[in-house]
Amino acid sequence: MAEDEENYIPVKWIEIYHYCPRIIYFIGVLGFKESEKEYMKEGKQEEELQEEKEKRRKTLLAKRKETVIEKWTNIKIYSQTLKLVGILDLIVKTPQGLKIIDIKNTDQEKLQPGYLYQTAAYALLAQEHFKKHVKSIIIHHVKNNKTFEINLTNQIIQHVHWTIKKINKILEKQQIPKAKNKKQCQGCGYYQLCKAL
Ligand code: SF4
Repeated sequence: MAEDEENYIPVKWIEIYHYCPRIIYFIGVLGFKESEKEYMKEGKQEEELQEEKEKRRKTLLAKRKETVIEKWTNIKIYSQTLKLVGILDLIVKTPQGLKIIDIKNTDQEKLQPGYLYQTAAYALLAQEHFKKHVKSIIIHHVKNNKTFEINLTNQIIQHVHWTIKKINKILEKQQIPKAKNKKQCQGCGYYQLCKAL
């Protein structure tokens, strides 16, 4: 069934909100699109390459011995209840249950909240689509080979719901969130626009 894309929030926005809520205003209210820089293209290519490798493996993320019973790749899911849409790169069924894998081209030592809640949102889409409980989410950092596996707890689910509410509020009220003065402003693709306001 074809869906009216405009009525759904992209899951990517969950990550963006945690980076800076102001960007949600720029893309969701003003309709701006961040220009894709060279390093962003390279990052995306690396993530796709790793995802392709992962799709062919019989166990989970080379270093783990966990058996994969079944896997699904590149499934676009619309959540009617959350009004959220996203493409899930990789979902696996293991002896422990369903797991959602997200690969990030980063060398960050710690798991970023944006990555955690974005992947948790994918898990909620998978639960609705498969009508099965998702056991955990796995986020793999390619550049330093770090892997985080986190159980999908009620607390995490509640935070995803909270984020969706906050995003909807920005879209409905059309009020620009306060600017943040933090170090990621320097690497933000909206820096010029943001500081000119
Ligand atoms: S420049 Fe800073 S405050 Fe402005 S949108 Fe980017 S991260 Fe947010």
